Amino acid sequence: MKIFLLYGGKSEEHDIAILSAHSIIQNIYYEFYEVQPVFITREGDWIKGRLITQEEEIPEVEDMTLVLPDDDHAESANVGIAMSIDELKEEDSIAFPVLHGPNGEDGTIQGLFETIGIPYVGCGVLASSTGMDKSISKVLFQEAGIPQVSYEKVWKRQWESDEQEVILRCEASMTYPMFVKPSNLGSSVGISQCDDRESLKAGIQEAFRFDRTIVVEQGIEAKEVEVALLGNDDIHTSVLGELVKRKGFYDYESKYLDNTVEMKIPSNIDEEVSRTVRDYASRAFASIEGSGLARADFFVTENDEIYINEVNTFPGFTQFSMYPSLWEATGLSYSDLIEELIQLGLQRFNERQ
Ligand code: ATP
Ligand code: MG
Ligand code: MG
Ligand code: MG
Repeated sequence: MKIFLLYGGKSEEHDIAILSAHSIIQNIYYEFYEVQPVFITREGDWIKGRLITQEEEIPEVEDMTLVLPDDDHAESANVGIAMSIDELKEEDSIAFPVLHGPNGEDGTIQGLFETIGIPYVGCGVLASSTGMDKSISKVLFQEAGIPQVSYEKVWKRQWESDEQEVILRCEASMTYPMFVKPSNLGSSVGISQCDDRESLKAGIQEAFRFDRTIVVEQGIEAKEVEVALLGNDDIHTSVLGELVKRKGFYDYESKYLDNTVEMKIPSNIDEEVSRTVRDYASRAFASIEGSGLARADFFVTENDEIYINEVNTFPGFTQFSMYPSLWEATGLSYSDLIEELIQLGLQRFNERQ
């Protein structure tokens, strides 16, 4: 069977997706699969790499982004030629989108797979788009009875027509610090912690660079714990992992650049709290109509109050990322996890035929 592994993408999280894809490529069972790498550039062009049929052909990570054949790499590299979408329509194949953030994790590419009628790994259109949109998923979580912090949704036109009204509305329902986030993004891009009115204003302006709606949330001091979800109708939850932060806000830098975050797996959170978090996680997954995988992120306060933060339908997926590490700790190896995800994608496709 052929796996079309799509990675990179037109998103702020392009680079992380390349690392996730490289980890996956190294851990596929080549006895059963061959992998067709498809690099999506930041501009959105699709570039076909060299087919991988066995471990010896796995490219170096630097070679996964080569777009034009050049003499130095012509022999060894994963050198690309433009690919047309039609080429995905191959018998006995599955698409594996390794894309984080908008244009990949948000239902857009899933819609393309649905339109051309091919199986794919991970959440479907609805789950991907609602999971990516924090302002929409909050409505569903509320409906599902999962506690979350207070928030205000703000549309760009509201901000443009009356900044003061927006600021006062936030101050009426919340206290500083607040967190401002673009509705659709990940990796903390565009997110600010705001400690006063001035920084709230600046934070809102910043978030609107990335989206047309934003959410302003009550900031809380809490442990951050995450749960991995796996399954279609039968949803499995992993043990909890905790982010041990050396600073208050888990921003882009601490996530990817300066390694100031440690993962504690399993977290030493109380057994009963842990059970509740896992229950909320599967309810959150069901509420967005998830299938395949997701990582649900929570806050747990000193008094064991639990609040859901968000779900990520294609979380960081390098071998060292939280999602695969949670499964490893729950008894499922990285390679078996990839295999399970492929089977879940095929199962969903076949059930619909
Ligand atoms: P991901 O990479 O997990 O997709 P994201 O960009 O979707 O991240 P969030 O997880 O919502 O963003 O927020 C990023 C980080 O900001 C959190 O991990 C946490 O450290 C901090 N944070 C977000 N919201 C709050 C809040 N309401 N109170 C306190 N800290 C918060
Ligand atoms: Mg997220
Ligand atoms: Mg994300
Ligand atoms: Mg998060």
